[in-house]
Amino acid sequence: MKKNKLGVNTICTHTGEIKDEQFGGANSPIYMATSYPFMEVDIKRYPRYFNTPNQQAVGSKIAALEHAEMAMPFTSGMAAISTTLLAFLSKGDHAVFANEIYGGAFNFIVEEFDKMGIEYSFTNGVKVEDFEAKIKSNTKVIYLETPSNPLLTITDIKVIAELAKRHGLVSMIDNTFASPINQTPLDFGIDISIHSATKYLGGHSDISAGAVAGTKEHIDKVFHKGKNLGGNLSDFMCYLLERSIKTLGIRVERHNLNAQLMADYLEGNDAITRIYYPGLKQYPDHEIAKEQMNGFGGMLSFELNDRYDAAKFQKQLRLIKPSMSLAGVESTILQPSLTSHALLTSEQRRAVGISDNLLRFSVGIENVEDIIKDIEQALKTFD
Ligand code: PLP
Repeated sequence: MKKNKLGVNTICTHTGEIKDEQFGGANSPIYMATSYPFMEVDIKRYPRYFNTPNQQAVGSKIAALEHAEMAMPFTSGMAAISTTLLAFLSKGDHAVFANEIYGGAFNFIVEEFDKMGIEYSFTNGVKVEDFEAKIKSNTKVIYLETPSNPLLTITDIKVIAELAKRHGLVSMIDNTFASPINQTPLDFGIDISIHSATKYLGGHSDISAGAVAGTKEHIDKVFHKGKNLGGNLSDFMCYLLERSIKTLGIRVERHNLNAQLMADYLEGNDAITRIYYPGLKQYPDHEIAKEQMNGFGGMLSFELNDRYDAAKFQKQLRLIKPSMSLAGVESTILQPSLTSHALLTSEQRRAVGISDNLLRFSVGIENVEDIIKDIEQALKTFD
């Protein structure tokens, strides 16, 4: 864990920036070269070595935000997740995964691990005993996600990190939903924090990227796997991501505020049967979320009652966009039963807590009264 002296918005704005020595411009210049000298240099630079100037610039900004020694930018969240898992797992090893993790990560594990001779188990819940029950003599990695997608389940990061340490395992977290503004898992003993930077870090729905942060020792291992797999982020995207993170702190502050106001509004609305938001006082594990999060985030999920059809409801929305991704400045909504969980039957979905009328809501930074008005006018069309 590496704490910073600078405030979080100062880090967002300035850490890692490349000085424009030639013209004194305000932003980091973009160095698009794929070829650098190898003689009489300290660093042999090459894009797939994750060490071009723009890759290093955005990496050091993310490392500072995650209280990590080092961070690496990848071409997608899945490139970051797959490379990191493969950096620490080999044939004959075993990994324990939380039962609630991003669907793409789940698919990667169940479709690829058997072929590589890597064993895995999913927990039956997110309590420490659920993780402990799955640890075997060949377990090397524990992997979790909190808050989880799409049910916003909270896992106690500190107790899982301690469990991993007791058993000599590498602990990894998908920190995408919280962003490093709301959650710095390394402070709670987690070894490696992973992001889909396509989400809050990018924040404008125009960047596909990922990131991995940890100690130099751990990131060196990720680098060695990364240069073989080739999921390096292009310099132009590194520039865009570094530029986007300049406003991460203030964007997330506004996402947090709007989501809390939306959760409060939805709570008082008869059309809603259930709300999933860790910022609500009566939410299960609200106290744990308060302990480990600086803000409760911009993501929430809710269930419409049976009078409303979730698919029709979304078609009536004018401001909030039904959309596959999340965490942009604009409000977006998604129905897991038609997307991530479409291949399951209604009963199977219910068994994993996903009702057909569940909506995952990425609350944007618009004026919250306009977001509320949009929901109200869409509900009225059912009258
Ligand atoms: N982790 C979480 C929590 C996500 O929501 C996603 C994508 O939706 C990913 C990882 C994968 O990121 P990407 O789509 O950038 O590969």
